[in-house]
Amino acid sequence: MPAPLDILRTIFGYEQFRGAQAEIIDHIVAGGDAMVLMPTGGGKSLCYQIPALCRDGVAIVVSPLIALMRDQVQALTQLGVKAACLNSSVPYSDQVEIERQMRSGELSIVYVAPERLVTDGFLTQIERCRISLFAIDEAHCVSQWGHDFRPEYLQLATLHERFPHVPRVALTATADGPTRQEIVTKLNLGDGRQFISSFDRPNIRYRVALKGGSAPQQLVRFIKEEHAGQAGIVYRMSRANVEDTAEMLRQNGIDALPYHAGLDRGVRERNQDRFLKDDAIVMVATIAFGMGIDKPDVRFVCHLDLPKSIEAYYQETGRAGRDGLPSEAWMLYGAQDAARPRQMIEEGDGSAEKKRLDHRKLDSLLGFCETTRCRRQVLLDYFHDTCEPCGNCDTCLEPVQSFDGTEAAQKALSCVYRTGQRFGAAYLIDVLTGSENERITGFGHDRLSVFGIGKEFDKNGWRSIFRQLTAAGLVRVDLAGHGGLQLTEESRLVLRGEQRLQLRHDPEGKRTSRSRSKSAASSAAAGDPLFQALREQRTQLAKAQGVPPYVIFNDATLLEMAGVKPRTLGEFAALSGVGAAKLDRYGAVFLDVIARF
Ligand code: ADP
Ligand code: ZN
Repeated sequence: MPAPLDILRTIFGYEQFRGAQAEIIDHIVAGGDAMVLMPTGGGKSLCYQIPALCRDGVAIVVSPLIALMRDQVQALTQLGVKAACLNSSVPYSDQVEIERQMRSGELSIVYVAPERLVTDGFLTQIERCRISLFAIDEAHCVSQWGHDFRPEYLQLATLHERFPHVPRVALTATADGPTRQEIVTKLNLGDGRQFISSFDRPNIRYRVALKGGSAPQQLVRFIKEEHAGQAGIVYRMSRANVEDTAEMLRQNGIDALPYHAGLDRGVRERNQDRFLKDDAIVMVATIAFGMGIDKPDVRFVCHLDLPKSIEAYYQETGRAGRDGLPSEAWMLYGAQDAARPRQMIEEGDGSAEKKRLDHRKLDSLLGFCETTRCRRQVLLDYFHDTCEPCGNCDTCLEPVQSFDGTEAAQKALSCVYRTGQRFGAAYLIDVLTGSENERITGFGHDRLSVFGIGKEFDKNGWRSIFRQLTAAGLVRVDLAGHGGLQLTEESRLVLRGEQRLQLRHDPEGKRTSRSRSKSAASSAAAGDPLFQALREQRTQLAKAQGVPPYVIFNDATLLEMAGVKPRTLGEFAALSGVGAAKLDRYGAVFLDVIARF
């Protein structure tokens, strides 16, 4: 039996296992069941692909999405591994042939849609094959409470009964404890080992920027100045906003495409395909986009609207930087984001219990936006994980000062109260700062004790305070929709001085740390014509085969190639990501490009 490390080196072209990979692989090769929890980009695929190549027979991989299967099969084929997929998009005659190859032992790995795997016909078929292992990818699809629930996943428990001697491995990137438990119970994995990695994604830089004058302009500047020529995703809440933002980016010379469930299916598929196969498309999308997108070189993920929850945010931003290269999660956040979602929860028709839960989730999310701590620590805390201050988020890079805002909050809250809980922040700020305008004198509010008591902050300062009070649930926006601010139960504690309050000093709108936040890939790409030439060569090869460029070589391999400049096939073989098959197919072509420089 070939050793896992030899396979890693000769077939995949990687030198060392990462994290728990070696341990997981040994366990499965030895016939054990396992549950593997690893963040996106952690390297889950190798955890079943290498055992599949070590053990006798064909590995059956259950995968919920056709696009995902196709991607994996293309990547394996490039490596010279015999792999195929069985799903509704495969022509019947091909299916028959694949099933024959499974029986004859010609295939090492077959990806199967769950609805097919659980049919009696298919199970009977594979009883006649030698099976090396079952891998259940995206195993959180068994969770009835999750949004990716696939009922067929529940039937996968039968695998254990029908094939008691075949090892099973379930894999997921979903972090929360209850889902983890559900996977183990529903898939009957109680006796298997659990391998749980940290959820940190150290190569992703988390940044939350305050919405300034114009969010679209901020976005254009972010992309042009920090991620020109790179692939990214911009999430928007509504379909209309998706289309407007994509159009706006195009007018600014950025190659952007829209994606949402309301688009014609053909258009959607074409846009997704271009995103996968071109180097630098910006996809503007609703959350309908992303699941099953395995593109490894997404360099940034932007949120222009508040995401649904921290879980959703972490999952969406997790689509950046699967290849481990520096990438960014960038959210634009403003006062509206602190107010609107709360209103929407209240106006929604969920039960009281559901609303309470939604408010709690929103509290965590707004707490993340408003924090002065390391953002990564706040995120990991949420998943009961920990880390040191990371040095790779905006609050670590440019520490945000906080101050005791109790007195300011008391002034603001009394102002809300004294003016009758019917005015919006702009008016309240005028009162606090003592503006003598007609509206104020008309209402007689210039005679209130709170008139002009807030001169220690300018209007921006008060705007920031009101936003933070809203985010913290100390004021809420009037539900009748006039935009008036009202007190809440919690605000009374602050007003009575029973609760103190720390507030953040928002950084000035200066544009900072641009050079520092430039990702390594981008500076190399911008400055190095060799890297560009290698990228073009890769695109040509990919187009000729109709596959995404990253299955030829990923960016990490190209960057190393541009840096090392190998001159012989021997030197080329030493690059990370170059195994025997790729050396054979592409070594000479890329050496030519390098030689020309
Ligand atoms: P996941 O499925 O966990 O999101 P993948 O299996 O797609 O992650 O792996 C992410 C990237 O890391 C891929 O480009 C993969 O080739 C690379 N990778 C995985 N394991 C290693 C390793 N041991 N050394 C170098 N690169 C690796
Ligand atoms: Zn940090």
